Amino acid sequence: LRVTGAAAQQAAKPVEGAVRIGANECWTGPFPVAAEAAYKLVNEGNRYEPDNEHQKLFAAVSAVEGIPADHVTAWPGSSDPLSRVAVAYASPTRGIVTANPTYEAIWRTGDWLGAKVTKVPLTSDYRHDVKAMLAADPNAGVYYICSPNNPTGTVTPLADIEWLANNKPKDSILVVDEAYIHWYDGPNAAKLAASRDDVLILRTFSKLFGMAGMRLGLTFASPTLMEKMMRYDGGQVTAMLPMTAVACGTVSVAQADLIKARRAEMVAARAKAMDHLKAKGLKVIPGSEANMFMVDWGKPAKEMQAAILAEKVQIGRNWPIWPNVSRVSVGSMAEMEAFNAAVDKVWKA
Ligand code: PLP
Repeated sequence: LRVTGAAAQQAAKPVEGAVRIGANECWTGPFPVAAEAAYKLVNEGNRYEPDNEHQKLFAAVSAVEGIPADHVTAWPGSSDPLSRVAVAYASPTRGIVTANPTYEAIWRTGDWLGAKVTKVPLTSDYRHDVKAMLAADPNAGVYYICSPNNPTGTVTPLADIEWLANNKPKDSILVVDEAYIHWYDGPNAAKLAASRDDVLILRTFSKLFGMAGMRLGLTFASPTLMEKMMRYDGGQVTAMLPMTAVACGTVSVAQADLIKARRAEMVAARAKAMDHLKAKGLKVIPGSEANMFMVDWGKPAKEMQAAILAEKVQIGRNWPIWPNVSRVSVGSMAEMEAFNAAVDKVWKA
């Protein structure tokens, strides 16, 4: 089982001296004011929980999202609850429906479970095709929407997400993975988790908040939904997270202005790289609202990834459905300029 996460981890592995725009990480660490809170907790590391840090996190998130604090659960990242919801609600008789391409962690969990995994192509404008997803397996146990979608960065409209929530079987779960939602200046699906028992929202601090290695994620869901996900260990994994990460996250979510500024910085760097590729006549998948985009080289993406890596720029992988298309994560402006220079060196139409 150690190897199952290998594809994602591989892209995150450092290559000496290379610009790292392969794993959708943030180019910089936590907001300084949030890092301060983490340092403080290092010094109080003798206590399991110095001062109700979990409750402070839930209260801060509840205030920002407008959902009840008892609907918020914290995790060491969002990977664990993503696997758990599949284990709890899919089975050999209740499948999993996802888009394609999308974040594929749940494909692996489904395979391990022996659950049928149905992968439905994105629409022509790269949204989740919610009607086709329901039609493809009308009795699935889990419907998974990733919005903004990894790897395309595209957003599925809230109305489509609501349509799927209202039309899927009552006893199935709609999972909305919002790992990249902070990069998007538009509505999110959080409130759906507050008003019903069959929607689970996934959030992470690994992206805009720059905490991938600190490990913190959230789920928004009703206590009833969570019960089945916690039956294996009584929720142990969420009870004792590193207090450094919890305190860092609590301060992070409240920084509306800093979030906006970091988003704007990313949008400018993303535009710089996308415009450069387009000017060369390359096809770039439009509509990304996240810190990644995809470029169609018209030839095997693996070869281009290797050629660009030889120029010391580590870009992301391709998905089997689109062998000529690479995912590129958005780093700092300087990193995207290095990417542009590497493309200039290696690209021949
Ligand atoms: N969901 C999506 C869509 C992701 O892209 C990732 C990581 O890249 C994750 C979940 C899991 O990340 P983490 O466990 O760091 O929260």
